[in-house]
Amino acid sequence: MLTINNVAFSYPTQPVFADLNITLENGEFSFLIGKSGSGKSTLLQLIYMNLLPDTGEVNVAGYSSKNIKPKDLPFLRRKLGVIFQDFKLFRDRNIYENISFVLEATGISKKEIKKKLNDALSEVGLFHRRFSMPDELSGGEKQRVAIARAIVNEPILILADEPTGNLDPESANEILEIIMKINNRGTAVLFATHNYEIVKRFPMKIYKLEDGKALKGVIKQK
Ligand code: ADP
Ligand code: MG
Repeated sequence: MLTINNVAFSYPTQPVFADLNITLENGEFSFLIGKSGSGKSTLLQLIYMNLLPDTGEVNVAGYSSKNIKPKDLPFLRRKLGVIFQDFKLFRDRNIYENISFVLEATGISKKEIKKKLNDALSEVGLFHRRFSMPDELSGGEKQRVAIARAIVNEPILILADEPTGNLDPESANEILEIIMKINNRGTAVLFATHNYEIVKRFPMKIYKLEDGKALKGVIKQK
């Protein structure tokens, strides 16, 4: 479902990846770790095809970085759900509107939008807050809204870029539990973090970014 083969990537000012190899099967969960600046966000952008590799190939959800066209990008991105550290909600729209705009582009009926939205908000336990504004929510709740927005199109892969980085430990745990629940229903997840406490608690596959490469491993639960 995701394969990254021999990818090299540099920004104009500096190299990031020399020879990157990563695979993720349907429904698989993997952590992505590595110190700040090791390329975690860059890698997620390569998967999202916001950036394209200099050499090698990114293959995701049936699309290849070698021949993807600009008109394909919205279709690829509907198959991916992205979650960021800083939530990226519109402050001037309520929770419902923050999520509905990703569905309006797909051309489905108002009734279907409402159904999908209510399902996604129930999934993260925030149906009762659907008419609140983002500033009325805690950090953990804002991230739950961002998760609802990420899953509302039923993506096959969730890309999470340090989603617990701005949260207290209790909210961070809630977010992880919700993402694990979504993964258990069959959605693949790539979870970038530098929080080793989280990683140690869950004995999942890990890719560690280091020296422009990805080292694969599993950290055993204590
Ligand atoms: P991480 O998410 O692991 O902290 P990033 O992917 O953000 O790492 O960054 C990887 C490297 O690329 C860093 O050295 C960073 O300074 C550099 N970098 C990130 N974005 C850009 C950019 N738009 N232009 C130039 N260099 C960048
Ligand atoms: Mg980053």
